Amino acid sequence: MANHKLKKILTQMRDVGINELPSSYLSLIAPPESAQKKTPQKSPALAGRSDSEKLRTSHFSSLEKIKAQYLDCKMCPLAKSRLRLVFGEGSARARLMFIGEGPGFTEDHLGRPFVGRSGNLLTDIITRGMKMKREDVYIANIVKCHPMKDPSDPEKHSNDRPPSPEEVSKCMPILLKQIDAIRPEVICTLGSPAAKIMLNRKDGISNLRGKIFDIRPLPDDPDYRVKLVPTFHPAYLLRNPPAKKPAWEDIKVIMGLLKK
Ligand code: SF4
Repeated sequence: MANHKLKKILTQMRDVGINELPSSYLSLIAPPESAQKKTPQKSPALAGRSDSEKLRTSHFSSLEKIKAQYLDCKMCPLAKSRLRLVFGEGSARARLMFIGEGPGFTEDHLGRPFVGRSGNLLTDIITRGMKMKREDVYIANIVKCHPMKDPSDPEKHSNDRPPSPEEVSKCMPILLKQIDAIRPEVICTLGSPAAKIMLNRKDGISNLRGKIFDIRPLPDDPDYRVKLVPTFHPAYLLRNPPAKKPAWEDIKVIMGLLKK
């Protein structure tokens, strides 16, 4: 309210005998500064962008920071034999995250997750089965470097092995940071080791697959919950084509969760 108008009203009130004003009335005339809406300061880097673009940018920059932090990681013995660290790839705002156990031969050579024959099958599941784009999900592994039976020869084929408990415990903080940055709604583990590690269970994949587990993966944020559905590893599906049918049932469970 303009000062001159306020002065006029107060003068009229005094003239009719009102000399005091309850403090609550003051807030009607001029709200206290603390109650006034403040315009947030815009970061020059984010000014002019929509909220969803800003969120996407911040998720992306968190992932990039984590990647930069671990690009030269030597926290476990796998660092000595790897050709490339396979961080993970996909959308920083993915609603669905796939987690395998670790990179294989092709992934080690290319530095990307699930890009060999089994990777092509996973891409088919995502694009042809789920009608999504590969770049709309996030794909990562429990460990970021290739666990080899014979670490002296990264060029040898059929040299894959599951990660050891020591390698898993050293690398798990990186995966948890990725999950923290992305905050997916659904996680699909691929294969028995990934399911057992993420669920801290000893059951085999045949017992775990297709079930919905409600987990709290982040020790620092127990309020964050995510649905986890285990399914077979694509490499197993290539070796055992009849398993594709139950795997498709698992994928339908995931699609149902994403529709909610
Ligand atoms: S597997 Fe993980 S902990 Fe081990 S060296 Fe690679 S990034 Fe580091």
